[in-house]
Amino acid sequence: MPSSSMTSSAEVSPAQESKAGTGDGDHLAALRAELDRRNLQGFVVPRADEHQGEYVPARAERLAWLTGFTGSAGSAAVLPDKAAVFVDGRYTVQVREQIDLTQFAPRHVTEEPLSDWLKENLTDGQRVGFDPWLHTDSQVLQLRNAVSAAKGELVACETNPLDSAWQDQPEAPLAEIVPHQIDFAGQASFEKRAEIAAKIKQAGCAAAVSTLPDSIAWLLNVRGGDVPCTPLPLSFLILANDGVATWFVDDRKLSDGLREELGNGVDLRAPAELADALEELGRRKSSVMADPASAPKWVFERLEGAGAEIVKASDPCQLPKAQKNTIELQGTRNAHLRDGAALTRFLSWLDREAPAQVAAGNLSELDLVEKLLSFRKGDSLFRDSSFETISASGPNGALCHYRVTPDNDRRLGTGELYLVDSGAQYLDGTTDVTRTVAIGEPSAEMRDRYTRVLKGHIALALARFPKGTNGGQLDSLARYPLWQAGLDYDHGTGHGVGSYLSVHEGPQRIAKAGSNVALLPGMILSNEPGYYKAGGYGIRIENLVAVIEQEQQPGEDRAMLAFETLTLAPIDTTLVEPALLTDGEVAWLDSYHARVRASLIENLEGDDATWLEKVTQPLAR
Ligand code: ZN
Ligand code: ZN
Repeated sequence: MPSSSMTSSAEVSPAQESKAGTGDGDHLAALRAELDRRNLQGFVVPRADEHQGEYVPARAERLAWLTGFTGSAGSAAVLPDKAAVFVDGRYTVQVREQIDLTQFAPRHVTEEPLSDWLKENLTDGQRVGFDPWLHTDSQVLQLRNAVSAAKGELVACETNPLDSAWQDQPEAPLAEIVPHQIDFAGQASFEKRAEIAAKIKQAGCAAAVSTLPDSIAWLLNVRGGDVPCTPLPLSFLILANDGVATWFVDDRKLSDGLREELGNGVDLRAPAELADALEELGRRKSSVMADPASAPKWVFERLEGAGAEIVKASDPCQLPKAQKNTIELQGTRNAHLRDGAALTRFLSWLDREAPAQVAAGNLSELDLVEKLLSFRKGDSLFRDSSFETISASGPNGALCHYRVTPDNDRRLGTGELYLVDSGAQYLDGTTDVTRTVAIGEPSAEMRDRYTRVLKGHIALALARFPKGTNGGQLDSLARYPLWQAGLDYDHGTGHGVGSYLSVHEGPQRIAKAGSNVALLPGMILSNEPGYYKAGGYGIRIENLVAVIEQEQQPGEDRAMLAFETLTLAPIDTTLVEPALLTDGEVAWLDSYHARVRASLIENLEGDDATWLEKVTQPLAR
């Protein structure tokens, strides 16, 4: 999960539109009164739900309700006469605008961490509560250390005191759950369950607990809609080592016929029965696999309390889910053909309209979000955006997590750069693409920076690497042309992408830190270097790529892997400084554009087709 600006991707999940973002003193006072009733002096509120998801339902926007802060990551800590909000570098400005500074102190999560704040403010023996559903086992370990170092006592709350104080807290979502057809999934659920069950058995375990909605959706070949932008049903699952799954899900969400589609190997139970099932595993003294990085502490407590032996391991669905099968890869290629045509129609429209409309002050960032969506929506397999579009002009482009709203909407100006990072959820695949275009005449500096970003993008696209290589080892390829000019960017270069699932998925990534998972054939990643000049402009060029095997050539010792670029959309060559490119880089750009033209032209008509012909011509040098 994105946690800091150095490891996360450029596009982070946005604040959700929720009435929760109205935190004020009343909410804080209500929580304190509830804590008092429970003989607690403190409480910790993470921005998290039971599934540690990037997107959470309105019900789980507790941090926003309490503090007003609506960022995608952060936490708050409350004591009788002090309270603080902890955020990472992406949100240090936003948090000050959103919280009441007389009630909450804003703190940088790594420079002024919770542990320091507790040491400064906790009195000996004070009891600090937490909701064991909302923190992972690993997080509770850290929290416990911090509270004990401050001579306090950490207390797991049976029910969440904030929920008791939140009068009009929204209900849990009940979006319909539908089958994800085999034509798109490529492998039957019973086969997936048998393969994962074999791994559970191999690890000496009776069962594995999964609390990750995307793992469960992948395993059962189902999709839902409980959170924005990602087709996830929120639920829990226990997979036994014989392949039988017990799915803890609200049955009001099941579409007609889904029960039959799932077959005998999936037992349906109400979410409230999860506790009994975990305790039953404990009573049988079973070994149970659980992921300390994703499962709530609550799951660990139930299992351990009842006598189960916990085998801590990554969620066993994560790696097989990340390696797309041939049907999923073909699906994503098809999705990119249609998505590329939609984006091309948008870029062509923008190029035609921009000069006059921008001069007249008629084109705003929000207009462009709507326009782009209208081109995508025409597709019959389109279901949703895969994240909230980043539509950023001029200086807004330099803010990596910028989201346009009616309040901050900005009109495009001449001589600026416009950055648009967007994606869609189609039944056959998830897309995520960034293009940066010049509105009017770009400066020489803009062209230099853009060309360096492009060189990094090309270096990664062309990378060949031995099996076993991880994303961390490839990251500097994309940064090197910027480093030579004393420049860099503060986000990861690439994140995993799901198949009609999360636009950000693990375990693989291309980044400076935390990316030591070997890249495997079938994995989809983004290739998105950028450059950001504060107060000036932002540049990012993002394509999705798939890891592919390379045939071993005569004389080669090692089995090599490479990337196939999936995204098909023109790259603005008016921003390219040809003198900075090598012959090999020009050859890549020309052949990419020839491929884009050949792939998309039949899906385009009239002005759009003519425009694509023009902008995909070989680079003039
Ligand atoms: Zn993106
Ligand atoms: Zn991305």
